Amino acid sequence: MSAWNSEKKVVLEAAKLMAEKGLVVGTSGNISMRFREQGGRDLVAITPNNLFYDVMGIDNIGIVDLEGERVEGELTTSIETMLHIGIYKARAKVNAVIHTHPIFSSILSVTGMNIPPVLDDQVTYLGGEIEVAEYSLPGSQDLVRNVIPALGPRNAVILANHGALTVGRDMREAFTNCEMLEKTARIYFSALNLGKINTLPAMALEMEQAYFNYLHGES
Ligand SMILES: [Zn+2]
Repeated sequence: MSAWNSEKKVVLEAAKLMAEKGLVVGTSGNISMRFREQGGRDLVAITPNNLFYDVMGIDNIGIVDLEGERVEGELTTSIETMLHIGIYKARAKVNAVIHTHPIFSSILSVTGMNIPPVLDDQVTYLGGEIEVAEYSLPGSQDLVRNVIPALGPRNAVILANHGALTVGRDMREAFTNCEMLEKTARIYFSALNLGKINTLPAMALEMEQAYFNYLHGES
């Protein structure tokens, strides 16, 4: 039996749920979790490149180190492996990353419109205004360079003309944030179509952001 089965199982189950919930189509999207090797270095369990989720098994989940070198697994890992690793290096408290292509987040990714703080739970879960990272090709170093600053200290970011990415302290949190981002995008899209937006009162935004920073801030 191969090592790190419990970590691989967390990634596999989240990947299957992501597909079942319609957050991706086909083989798109990718999911990873960071964990500490017993007494040693940080490792990342991550979905493979180009494999349908219904046939994905635990042995298809790869293990890489923080340099992107393969530690275990036979399949090529996700083309966004270096993006996941870049986020783990930039955000010490983040231990799970989920990249999806959900409909309403993707609509906003096409318009290039940030989502201003419009809902209480958007701020407490995701950290405030959601930025759209400048366009770059999937799998490129430019994508890594553009996405990390647009994510900033928050838990969600939209990738221009592409999709969404969310993070969390664990997989459940990253997955909830994925659903929270899509809910927020859907509501913002609908409100824009109704033609009137009231953003959050400044005092509420300040208190909710302080709460978010208390939970997720690095210091
Ligand atoms: Zn993608």
